[in-house]
Formats: sequence, structure tokens, C-alpha cells
Amino acid sequence: MIKTDIIIIGAGPVGLFAVFEAGLLKMKCHLIDVLPKAGGQCIELYPKKPIYDIPAHPEILAGDLIEKLIKQSSQFKPGFTLGEKAEKLEKNKDGTFTVTTDKGTKHNAPVVAIAGGAWWFSAQKTEF
Ligand SMILES: Cc1cc2nc3c(=O)[nH]c(=O)nc-3n(C[C@H](O)[C@H](O)[C@H](O)COP(=O)(O)OP(=O)(O)OC[C@H]3O[C@@H](n4cnc5c(N)ncnc54)[C@H](O)[C@@H]3O)c2cc1C
Repeated sequence: MIKTDIIIIGAGPVGLFAVFEAGLLKMKCHLIDVLPKAGGQCIELYPKKPIYDIPAHPEILAGDLIEKLIKQSSQFKPGFTLGEKAEKLEKNKDGTFTVTTDKGTKHNAPVVAIAGGAWWFSAQKTEF
């Protein structure tokens, strides 16, 4: 069982920056992504495409943006479960949550953040 302060489902740009913001509040994060590396759409679909709408960057390649986000968040030492799809979210009696992947890896935390972008995530009704 991997234990952390915040489980983040999705290691795209939103998930990566969430690690930085949580780190400022002294909370440790563990990211889960079905892709084999962090970066989401920016890395998987268009790493060489220039982006023009990032504050303080008149132009930046999507791949370079992800490199900077990883560097920025790495100071807070996030954990990663890559190449696994988060499939099951359960609330435990102690109020924490357990997220289980399609490969059976279990993660436990008091908080789960969903940064799943447009892919893979589909809501399923569960009774808490
Ligand atoms: C061709 C293209 C060009 C674009 N150009 C621009 C641009 O110029 N400027 C701009 O601002 N935006 C652009 N966008 C949009 C931008 O890429 C997205 O807004 C951004 O990637 C969203 O970030 P995110 O972290 O929310 O989601 P994503 O990048 O989608 O990352 C979500 C991650 O969650 C993972 N995930 C989801 N569900 C699960 C699950 N159940 N288990 C495990 N992992 C899961 C996915 O694998 C993915 O890696 C473009 C998009 C495309 C496709």
C-alpha cells in the first residue's frame, strides 16, 4: 500500500502543478497515470508544438513546458505510479480513500484529486 497526503489521478500539466502547490502547503503527493510518463496530452500528443498562452512564456514547446513543470514539482519529491490506470476509488472507515489501479497497486490518502483531463476517466456511481 502506497501512503501519501494527496493522491493525484492524472500526471498531465494540471496534476504536475498541483504537486507544486500542495508542496508549498507541506503536503506530499503521489501521481497515478495510465501513460508510461508524466506530461499528459502535451507529451503524448504534441511535444514539439509551440504554445502561446502560458503566462510569462510568449512561446514555449509543449515538451519544454512539461520539463519545467516536472523540475518545478520535483523539489517536493512526488511519487509516481505510471503505466497503470486508476480504476477503483473506495472510502475507508477512517475517512481516507484507497485508489486501486488496473494492475492492483493500492494507494491510500485522506485526499484524492482528479486531474484526468479528457481521457480515460469516466464517472461510475459508487455508494460511500
Ligand atoms: C493537439 C492539441 C493541441 C493543444 N494545444 C494547446 C495550446 O496551444 N495551448 C493550451 O493551453 N492548450 C492546448 N491544448 C489543450 C491542453 O493540452 C490541455 O488543456 C491540457 O493538456 C490539459 O491538462 P490536464 O493536466 O488537465 O489533462 P491531460 O493533459 O489530459 O492529462 C490528464 C492525464 O490523466 C491521465 N488519466 C486520466 N484518467 C486516468 C485514470 N483513470 N488513471 C490513470 N491516468 C489517468 C491521462 O493519461 C493523462 O496523462 C491542446 C490539446 C491538443 C490535443
